[in-house]
Amino acid sequence: MPVVRTEAIALGRTDYSDSSQIITFFTHDYGKIRALAKGFKRSSGKHSSKAIDLLSYYQIFFIKKEHTSLHTLTEAILQNNYPTLRNDLDKYYRASYMAELINEFTMENDSSEQLFKVLVNTLDGISTEQDATVRLLVFEIKLLKILGYLPEWGCCVQCKNRIQEASGVRFSAKEGGVLCQRCQTKSTHGILVTPGAMLIAGRLAEMNFLKLDRIKLHLSICVEIEKMLRYYIASILNKELNSWKYIKV
Ligand SMILES: [Zn+2]
Repeated sequence: MPVVRTEAIALGRTDYSDSSQIITFFTHDYGKIRALAKGFKRSSGKHSSKAIDLLSYYQIFFIKKEHTSLHTLTEAILQNNYPTLRNDLDKYYRASYMAELINEFTMENDSSEQLFKVLVNTLDGISTEQDATVRLLVFEIKLLKILGYLPEWGCCVQCKNRIQEASGVRFSAKEGGVLCQRCQTKSTHGILVTPGAMLIAGRLAEMNFLKLDRIKLHLSICVEIEKMLRYYIASILNKELNSWKYIKV
């Protein structure tokens, strides 16, 4: 069985035995994988450096199994453990939320180099920037876009006209976008939104990471976009995410 090498972010881990764990990685070349890490478990002794830290960037080597989804980790070389994330609980929760989103939205062994780059860029960004709010919004939106869930925010999903109204517009997860007042019926589900915030959400989907540090958004806009995203993500996954309890909107 071949030993393969790839770049990876550790998303989660569960105990397997006294001395081994199963680590979930999101990798550059193989998407999400689970690997048995023998002897990598954190211990109080001198071998503690072998433990795999969550939300850290590794170069990993693993034996790629053909007939099971559980591979075997042979080596993990730490590239970046984003130290500022460890000292800032709010940022750590945001990074954990990103890991939870990837875990929930992706299938094992379904690679997406684009999503890997967005994850690494965002971890870099939130660990170095003062304010992580916009970075996280962009991460959520780009994840939806890459995985084919990007809703329509600029035009009404029914009549296709650009949204002109200043109020009374709804965002419907079921319809996959905004509905103008004329196209809403009594049975229209969804949440009331302001067209301005939805237009900004649409622009964030196209935003270049290099330009993100120049973006300043009013807190109320960020809050509205985040609420809309949570409502939409909960509708897609049919559940609430754990991290929402720890990150206030
Ligand atoms: Zn309409």
